[in-house]
Amino acid sequence: MNLNVNEIFYSLQGEGGRSGQASIFIRLAKCNLTCSFCDTDFERGVKMTVDEVLGEIKQYSCKWVIWTGGEPTLQLTDAIVAIFKKEGYLQAIETNGTRKVPAGIDYIACSPKQNFEKVREIIPEVDELRFPIEKGDPLPDTSILPRSARYFLSPIFDDSRIIPENVEYCISLVKENPAWSLSIQTHKLIGIR
Ligand code: SF4
Repeated sequence: MNLNVNEIFYSLQGEGGRSGQASIFIRLAKCNLTCSFCDTDFERGVKMTVDEVLGEIKQYSCKWVIWTGGEPTLQLTDAIVAIFKKEGYLQAIETNGTRKVPAGIDYIACSPKQNFEKVREIIPEVDELRFPIEKGDPLPDTSILPRSARYFLSPIFDDSRIIPENVEYCISLVKENPAWSLSIQTHKLIGIR
């Protein structure tokens, strides 16, 4: 079993409901969307076997893995998730909501970018919904979205620079709609991966 891996690194989750928690990031290459604000380099990849990936992450004293991308569901399968589970790993995934999530994932962070009305059919329930927002964007309609334990608005940055008007706009949306919370990309602010 092979994976096309863009990078593996150990850091803290910088945003959303698991913010601040140590995690091993496994970034899989390729995405099925082309978002204008995308700040992730996911095109390059190196073919690795699942055993090679497990061998590399064993150096870290952490049992949380985050499958990210790109879009990790393009490659991740039930069988691969089961292997990591058997090795004792808890697994989160960051997905754009366009494809089914493999069985066995412990934490689903879904950040839909288009066709919001279709996401619920594909992934009925998630642990968090997180939306990149810039000033003037409408608040997403939760009635058509997957059921979620938590709802986050994430002000869009300019690379690693905060854009104050986007932050102020998200703060005002959260104050008017308290079911939502603010999620800041703290990893960019404190200069970690
Ligand atoms: S879905 Fe995510 S990784 Fe893919 S292009 Fe959009 S922002 Fe980038």
